[in-house]
Amino acid sequence: MFHGAAQAVTQDEVMAGAARLYGERLAQLRATRSLDDNARFAARIAAIAWPLIEQAKRDYPASASWTWELHTTSDEQENASAMAGGKLLVGSAFADRLSLNDAEMAMMLAHEICHVVLLHNLREHEEALRLEPHWTTRPYAELEHAIDNDTSLMRKLARINLSQEEEADREGMRLAARAGWKPAELARFFRKIERSSHTPHFGSISHPAPAQRARAARELAAALEAGR
Ligand SMILES: [Zn+2]
Repeated sequence: MFHGAAQAVTQDEVMAGAARLYGERLAQLRATRSLDDNARFAARIAAIAWPLIEQAKRDYPASASWTWELHTTSDEQENASAMAGGKLLVGSAFADRLSLNDAEMAMMLAHEICHVVLLHNLREHEEALRLEPHWTTRPYAELEHAIDNDTSLMRKLARINLSQEEEADREGMRLAARAGWKPAELARFFRKIERSSHTPHFGSISHPAPAQRARAARELAAALEAGR
């Protein structure tokens, strides 16, 4: 096996790739003057996100040494995303459209933070290698590109993507609850997603239906509030 082959895919490699892509995305946003361009929104997000990140560092100690980064943008394309190693980007347009209050924002951020601390990116790469072993002999950068662009591979990864979304919903609510947010208020985030969806009862092959997410969130919130 030669150096850099995908067979050797490690969390360090996934984080390095994510840091590069994150840097490129920030540069694009900076060039269009849409990076951290709303000081009030940036301050609000920072006040909600950093305590959740501190909670995640305590609960998932491997993430404590990462260089976490948080930025905001007014770019309409951006909802909320988190890349491997703790690189977060939050869009103000989406938050405005749904008029998210602080608890709902905390739920959205905790979901993203859980994708990162649960190493979902790395697990997805490992699953890709299991499904299509020919990638093991190719450079990691090619696999990284294929995971976001090769529709045949993406279809095969839909099952793991779906289970990762459900896990991020669940563990995200638990994380935010440990950080002090009320579960019932967190669950309202999913109600807003459901209401804003034109087809609440239909998911995609990689994402659960909004109505199903909302029901699961209400059930988990009730269990957490009952101390179960
Ligand atoms: Zn997600």
